[in-house]
Amino acid sequence: MLAGEDRNDRRSLRVLLEAACPDMRGRIVEINDPMPLRQASGANLSDRVGRLARLARARAARENADLACVFVHEDLDAADGDEYLQTRKRVQKALEAELGTAHYVLAVAEIEAWLLLFPEALAGLVSSWSVPKKYLHRDTGKLSDPKRILMREVGSGSRRYRESDAPDVLVKAVELGCHTTPVGTNRSWVQLHADAVDCCREHLKGNRG
Ligand SMILES: [Zn+2]
Repeated sequence: MLAGEDRNDRRSLRVLLEAACPDMRGRIVEINDPMPLRQASGANLSDRVGRLARLARARAARENADLACVFVHEDLDAADGDEYLQTRKRVQKALEAELGTAHYVLAVAEIEAWLLLFPEALAGLVSSWSVPKKYLHRDTGKLSDPKRILMREVGSGSRRYRESDAPDVLVKAVELGCHTTPVGTNRSWVQLHADAVDCCREHLKGNRG
């Protein structure tokens, strides 16, 4: 089960999860209702997580499927720092308490920061796109506005980057095989990969087919 802020984010996550875990192919169900968790804490957070869990369980029942695990995506909308660690820990704990198996995917600063790790895929999608050297081999989680970099500096020409391109860039990265060799780092990217591998090995067990 996959919950995320918008359709592009959910599609991006789906591409990455299926690439990391072929067992998830064709088995991921999306929840469309956004449930902001990032700024919630205490009773407010438990309440929202409870609502999210009810939606997920109802959806699984409708699909006549077992709810093996839930991935919840949000953008931090801020560069990597203490806030990332604290928020991720708080929400992850609340999700696990309610659902047992769950992964909180908090992107720093946003999914676009991940795209900057794959210059080859960006150029593969639109040949005029190129990532300026100063953004290569960097921690892209520390860039405060990766979306702007993509719009203004990578795709400055007739074909500019738009948010709906994000999943296609990731599809291209998987196609080219470069999604396993990011040019740079990003803690939230590494975390997502670890979560996908764990989920594949631990949470889907006994739930196959
Ligand atoms: Zn899992």
